Amino acid sequence: MAAVTATGPRELRIAVIGAGMSGILSVIELRKAGHSDVTVFEKADRVGGTWRENTYPGLSCDVPSHLYQYSFALDAEWSRRFSPGPEIFDYFERVARDHDVMRSIRFGEEVTRAEFAGGRWHLETSTGHRDTFDVVIAATGVLHRPRYPVIAGLDDFAGAMFHSARWDHDVTIDGARVGIVGTGSTAVQIVSAIVDRVDHLTLFQRTAQWIMPQPNPAYTDEEKAAYRSDPGRMAELHRSLADAFGLFANAIVDASSPGIKMIEDACLANLEDNVHDPELRERLRPTYRAACKRLIISGDFYGAIQRPNAELVTSAIELAEPSGVRTADGVLHELDVLVLATGFEADAFMRPMRLVGRDGWTLDDEWAQRPNAYLSISIPDFPNFFMLNGPNGPVGNFSLIEVAELQFAYVLQLVEMLRDGTCREISATRAAMDAHEAARTEAAKTTIWVTGCNSWYLDDRGVPAAWPWTFARFREVMSAPVLDAYELVG
Ligand code: NAP
Repeated sequence: MAAVTATGPRELRIAVIGAGMSGILSVIELRKAGHSDVTVFEKADRVGGTWRENTYPGLSCDVPSHLYQYSFALDAEWSRRFSPGPEIFDYFERVARDHDVMRSIRFGEEVTRAEFAGGRWHLETSTGHRDTFDVVIAATGVLHRPRYPVIAGLDDFAGAMFHSARWDHDVTIDGARVGIVGTGSTAVQIVSAIVDRVDHLTLFQRTAQWIMPQPNPAYTDEEKAAYRSDPGRMAELHRSLADAFGLFANAIVDASSPGIKMIEDACLANLEDNVHDPELRERLRPTYRAACKRLIISGDFYGAIQRPNAELVTSAIELAEPSGVRTADGVLHELDVLVLATGFEADAFMRPMRLVGRDGWTLDDEWAQRPNAYLSISIPDFPNFFMLNGPNGPVGNFSLIEVAELQFAYVLQLVEMLRDGTCREISATRAAMDAHEAARTEAAKTTIWVTGCNSWYLDDRGVPAAWPWTFARFREVMSAPVLDAYELVG
């Protein structure tokens, strides 16, 4: 830790980038901590982040609703164990409204550039607006930049075509011949939701997926009334779901654990018991271990893909033609609509925003190899800039809301040092980031993610860009910053 001179307390001007789940959280918690000068920049015209951008049929969250909610805004009204996307979007909008978050948001303003100069952050937005802040919190989400597949002739396709995160609701899928590229969580949800609406559904599978079956019961009126009248009961449910999810989080970071064996057994039994045609079953059987890719939770995908109007295509896509998609076996699959459920650029984070730290050092310089940050939160030479759900965090391990809450409580302790005058600038040291990264890379070797599959978790080296330890350890590390890991200036 660098020597510092006390400078006296000061009021901070704080910018939050993004009004999704973690941006809303930031405003509420900053205000609770007594920060009144908070501005949120949101590129769109509504809050909600991923739940605003994704509107595809079947959208839901595979984290139970009573866990996927803020600890300070428990909701008794969730309709199902895994509630649909529009309900989750409404929840975020309601929480933002109830906590008067909207008045702090500048909608329709994307931060295009942020530069640290003279001890402050100078922001420019897409509208030409400029402003200066002491602290910037990047709450920009993880998976927001769609990844489009490279398929020859794609532009020649004469039907409607869109990415799953840009669903075109003007296109009629009822009675249409619909093709879906991809078999990730998104595609699986879409298939189950639309198979009974379309004339013919063609699912182009490059890699088979393990599917974890999960019932999705509705909460009864009696259950909701009980949660409403006794919030303690709801808090108890939240805790018990967190404990259960903790078992999953512990299992995936230990490829030899009994927990991962249970997951594997459940997925295998699901395949064996619920896919009846042996030939189809073999084509749906993955050749890698369950949970190596992001585990897919679905109680109805196998039923959907076995409908008479559904077709699983495993021959590789060769090219697109005006009337459809031709596969390597020479077959032309005629389509009216083509949905690209091909995932996201997982290393984008706050980019394309241009970020310039000390002495002209840019984020693109810093991340020339790959995204990195100390504990996912702070980057050397980018003082007073903090990320929520930044690189290499527990992105697939746990409810991202709890992750963001824990990260925020940690960031707030650093911000407090800026406010109380302990220092004027704070950022992780390069030594701390490098040591953390070395430990993380080593620990990742025993996780399920490196057992022989390809996924968006893996970086250019094949190292999972994720937290490789237990969630209990994450909680502990987030409880208080180790100040030796930081350079404090001023
Ligand atoms: P994804 O997991 O990255 O899946 C993309 C799919 O597209 C994969 O099946 C991939 O095949 C396929 N693909 C990509 N390029 C292709 C090409 N050129 N030709 C053929 N196939 C191609 O994306 P996602 O399904 O959108 O999910 C991304 C993440 O979002 C999830 O892992 C999850 O974290 C999150 N998500 C969560 C929920 C939820 O319920 N909480 C729901 C949806 C999404 P390969 O497997 O062969 O690469």
